[in-house]
Amino acid sequence: MRNHMETTKFVVATHNVHKVKEFQRILAPLHIDILLPSQCGGENIDPVEDGETFEANAIIKATAFAKALGMPALADDSGICIDALGGAPGVYSARYSGGSDDDNNELVLKNLEGVPYEQRTARYVCVICCADPDGSYFTVRGECEGIIGFEYRGENGFGYDPLFYMDNGKTFAEISGEEKDVRSHRGKALRLLAEKLAEKQ
Ligand code: IMP
Repeated sequence: MRNHMETTKFVVATHNVHKVKEFQRILAPLHIDILLPSQCGGENIDPVEDGETFEANAIIKATAFAKALGMPALADDSGICIDALGGAPGVYSARYSGGSDDDNNELVLKNLEGVPYEQRTARYVCVICCADPDGSYFTVRGECEGIIGFEYRGENGFGYDPLFYMDNGKTFAEISGEEKDVRSHRGKALRLLAEKLAEKQ
């Protein structure tokens, strides 16, 4: 593990361009370079994410990419857990409605109909797995608390961001990418990852 982790290059095991942008933005200043699957022959790697936890799915993805490509891999499994929905959509966030991000958001609003503001608490969760081709790995987790609003606001971000309100009354879709990084579940997890990698060097 140690020798491989001294490299600054990782493949990021996702085909989600929004996630890749956030990885690049947060990790670049920390001198950690990430490659897209398409930059290292991994465009067709698509492991089945059948884990029941964020940790399990992150491990499935990172270990599959690391093994297939023979290089260290990072994978993020993330989602939103809404208290009034018993923690749903959770690990099913990407496929909650079976349709697009907009369809997912519509379904959230429909399922929260009649739920008052103070009961619309939610958190984004992000687990990142760092895997080595020798099969070893570790995970880090970041979380971020918010409220699911009654209406969409903002054009930035992706997924559930236009419905995810912070304590300052703005949604994640109303702030810049850099501001999102400071507060977000992914930003927190990536900074923990950077600390762990620094410890290993
Ligand atoms: P995954 O690619 O299987 O990890 O699914 C992640 C899903 O969780 C995304 O498709 C979004 O629906 C949701 N999600 C995770 N992180 C974010 C975020 O930062 N903003 C908005 N939605 C997110």
